[in-house]
Amino acid sequence: MTVSVDRALCYGSAECAHRVPDVFAFEDGYGVVRPGRAESADDPQVREAAEKCPSQAILLGE
Ligand code: SF4
Repeated sequence: MTVSVDRALCYGSAECAHRVPDVFAFEDGYGVVRPGRAESADDPQVREAAEKCPSQAILLGE
């Protein structure tokens, strides 16, 4: 499954980058998925980061 961040929703808490730093980074005031890590949504830590994102900006897809 894929993971992405909707920048229009992200308000830059940086929690995702602190929680799962090998998948998420914090750049220019937004959370981003690191290059090559978009297929990480099966990782329980990534799913938890999505659940705990305060702005529901982390999207899990097929
Ligand atoms: S946890 Fe959510 S709001 Fe915070 S930086 Fe990550 S995507 Fe943005």
